[in-house]
Amino acid sequence: MRARAILMAALVSVPAAAQPIYDLLLKSGHVIDPANGRNGRFDIAITGDRIAAIGNSLPASHARLVVELSEYYVTPGLIDIHAHFDAQGAWLNLNPDHNTLRNGVTTAVDAGSSGWKNFEAFKSAVIGHAKVRLLAFLNIVGAGMYGSKVENDVAEMDPVAAARMVKKYPELIVGIKTAHFQPATWDAVDRAVKAGELSGTPVMVDFHPKPGRGYEELILKHMRPGDIHTHFLGRLTPQLDGSKKVQPYMWQARKRGVLFDVGHGSGSFWFRIAAPALKQGFLPDTISTDIHKDSIMLSRATMPNVMSKLLNLGATLEQVVERSTIRPAKAIRRPELGALREGAVADIAVFSLDRGRFEFLDSGRGKLTGDKNLRCVLTIREGTVVWDSEGLSLTDWSDAGPYSNYK
Ligand SMILES: [Zn+2]
Repeated sequence: MRARAILMAALVSVPAAAQPIYDLLLKSGHVIDPANGRNGRFDIAITGDRIAAIGNSLPASHARLVVELSEYYVTPGLIDIHAHFDAQGAWLNLNPDHNTLRNGVTTAVDAGSSGWKNFEAFKSAVIGHAKVRLLAFLNIVGAGMYGSKVENDVAEMDPVAAARMVKKYPELIVGIKTAHFQPATWDAVDRAVKAGELSGTPVMVDFHPKPGRGYEELILKHMRPGDIHTHFLGRLTPQLDGSKKVQPYMWQARKRGVLFDVGHGSGSFWFRIAAPALKQGFLPDTISTDIHKDSIMLSRATMPNVMSKLLNLGATLEQVVERSTIRPAKAIRRPELGALREGAVADIAVFSLDRGRFEFLDSGRGKLTGDKNLRCVLTIREGTVVWDSEGLSLTDWSDAGPYSNYK
């Protein structure tokens, strides 16, 4: 017994400073973390699934693995608040992990693929298996995006049942979605807002104006402060006047707290609209992809791609990072997800800002030639490297040692 006690004491007495205390040290990256006002060189240390420290000159000798990032930008893991990943719903939906993590996205929100009737099937079939943090806007249509027949059926839109489902899964459902509604009435929007009121959550609106159901009335009267109009740079809604000037009601709606989200997709981003809007200072509140099987093809609308388009239209890197991290986090009322903080879950993205000649495609058969392209090179989700396109966290094979070292 005595010998064992002495041995234990000897183990405990090893100076803590001599032991590795960080699992991973991200060294010397240019950190852009608008929530905390960081825009400069910092080290970030990770232990387990948490951020252990953020600072200058954190000791490399304390880390099991050091990743040198002086050529790269480091941001909080991106948040894409408009995506489609419910395999139970529309055929357009994608696998969540393959289409988020390699783009620096560590939190994605499925925007209404499922409704209160089939959310639980989505939860057990997809959300429960995803490595990315997968959240949802619940479609006001009970069956979700299951084709125009149900999506145009007002009887499918039950605010009480929808709000009940939101309250059952408050950790997963962040709000209500309405989309694709064609009849010229306010039923879909108003019932979605009712469900938002009953559940205390925001509503994301995809809107097709009709005679008697206009856009100005939507954003000034029917939507509440904190509700989100997605696809706002698309052709469907009249955000610009005939001389390409941003309509006064856009500024009024922004002033009353309505949020404008990109929701790029395959039909909702036009350089002919985005360029004059940005020039007049009307930037999106949030950047999102509306990623689905079509939009990843011709328009290549991933988060870094949409961010790059806005960069080449004149937005700053800090502006696009803010609109892809803390602003969407606040829009879904989960501000802790959009910032780098000691003690928080380590969800982090690393980007190369490449210089050269790059072509970008929009939804209206238009292209933009730009000189900047943001490319995700490393993604960390819950402290683990899940994407590493350059092998930044790896050892050169010739120094990797015998096979038997491999764990
Ligand atoms: Zn969508």
